[in-house]
Amino acid sequence: MPKTYSSVPGVERFQTTPCPLCGALTRSAFLSCDGFAFVRCRECSAVYQNPSPVFEDLRKRYGEGYFGYEHENELNFFHLMELGLKDVDFDRRTAGFVEPRTFLDIGCATGMLLESMQRKGWVVKGVDICPESAEYGRRHRGVDIFPGTLHEAGFPDASFSVIHFSHLIEHVPDPRGFLAEVLRVLKPGGLAVITTPNVDGFQARLFKTGWRSAIADHLVLFSRRTLGRVLGESGFQVLKAVTWGGLAVGTVPLLIKKPVDRLAKKLGFGDVVLFLTEKRTA
Ligand SMILES: [Zn+2]
Repeated sequence: MPKTYSSVPGVERFQTTPCPLCGALTRSAFLSCDGFAFVRCRECSAVYQNPSPVFEDLRKRYGEGYFGYEHENELNFFHLMELGLKDVDFDRRTAGFVEPRTFLDIGCATGMLLESMQRKGWVVKGVDICPESAEYGRRHRGVDIFPGTLHEAGFPDASFSVIHFSHLIEHVPDPRGFLAEVLRVLKPGGLAVITTPNVDGFQARLFKTGWRSAIADHLVLFSRRTLGRVLGESGFQVLKAVTWGGLAVGTVPLLIKKPVDRLAKKLGFGDVVLFLTEKRTA
């Protein structure tokens, strides 16, 4: 099974990393891939890359090559994000939101979701670390994308009714600091919609180092349990948490795939975990 695209790192400096979720230094080996490795925290069982590249080197991965991947797959990713929003009953849940209804997409790539939300009447903003993607979205889609990180964007407190980040948090070196910033710029009672690969899923367990999400660009591999815990501790109320997708198309006959997928979703073994959360008030 092909893996998810990962950039080809140049010469990078690496550093030993404490657990990005709890700060502990005790860890066990988890997955040893070609040129990078994931460990499991002995305190909180988070799975993370260690050693990991220093941030100034890491951000250089998200250049022209990454833009090419995002641009080529934008329609496919857009449809998956639409399915996610449908699964959390997005339109009904946000129907009563007061104007202006503001939507932030972090890691928005070329801005296809932003363009669609803008057409539906949302005031949209995007953030993407890849300057080429941000420029493309601004130029071709007429959507406002900040090229950089969420922290660098420096939005005012309580700016957004909804914050969406799909397949982003696993790329972030400091998920706790990131979630604190998401919480700050989210309006009280505002929603955050999050998807990320599920390291407890069926495919991760089956394929191990060959799992499509065991790639160099992923710094933390979450599960429903580890992400749910850090979200709860960061001030988010979890409204819904589901997993998606059992087996990749083509790995088994459809006759087998369909019931396995249904079972995986029911048991929480899906390949991707999807959270709908609300900013807790006081
Ligand atoms: Zn930990």
